[in-house]
Amino acid sequence: MTSPTSSSDLSRRDEIAANLAAVEERIEQACREAGRARSEITLIAVTKTRPAADVRILSELGVRDVGENRDQEAAGKASECAELPLTWHFIGQLQTNKVRSVAGYADVVHSVDRPRLVSALGREAVRAGRRIGCLIQVDLDPSEGPADGPGERGGVRPDGVLDLAALVAEAEGLRLDGIMAVAPLEADPGPAFARLAEVAEAVRKVHPSATTVSAGMSGDLSQAVAHGATHVRVGTALLGRRKPFVR
Ligand SMILES: *Cc1c(COP(=O)(O)O)cnc(C)c1O
Repeated sequence: MTSPTSSSDLSRRDEIAANLAAVEERIEQACREAGRARSEITLIAVTKTRPAADVRILSELGVRDVGENRDQEAAGKASECAELPLTWHFIGQLQTNKVRSVAGYADVVHSVDRPRLVSALGREAVRAGRRIGCLIQVDLDPSEGPADGPGERGGVRPDGVLDLAALVAEAEGLRLDGIMAVAPLEADPGPAFARLAEVAEAVRKVHPSATTVSAGMSGDLSQAVAHGATHVRVGTALLGRRKPFVR
């Protein structure tokens, strides 16, 4: 839908442009410090809870990757923004009953954490005639529950990653792109990201094309870049604080 540009659209655009410039500067700084090239890092703008108008502004400002974590919200936005040159990343925990919908618009799913999800995603990707990139979500919180259950925020334990990666690599309709993690809360993210880098290396040994390491958010993107992240997922620093009741 197009609507006349109002002055509030203009100031929102200015605000997002300024935030984007600041995030860009942080990424460049982190790359300089880590001796990496800026071109090694993809910025994913996390647009959850934000209107399609924000997605449109980001696209006009040159952002090419957006992330969403709830199907109900993402499906509508993706269809409203269908003509924009965007790659859609699904970054939230994914229930099996949402897979058919997600397979219709997501280019990459970051939250693959169990065999049932792999089979459902593969089936629906084939059905939709699409190929979906998959990242194995790694649970980096050592303090959590039983060794084989998914962690509170989703994710498979580091020692379960290779088995799940093999399933994705064999599945028709899916492409194993790499791994993803959210650093545990209230801790220095460095050790967790270092552990993630080890897992990434183990995966690349078996699957050389699975090079994506999705790690780092508004608060810890520099540490993630220092530890080899190829994709950072940034919401708050680009679009402002979300209301507290939504993740
Ligand atoms: C919301 C979210 C982000 C973005 O977090 P910010 O702190 O707002 O940058 C990144 N990754 C995941 C999985 C998220 O759910």
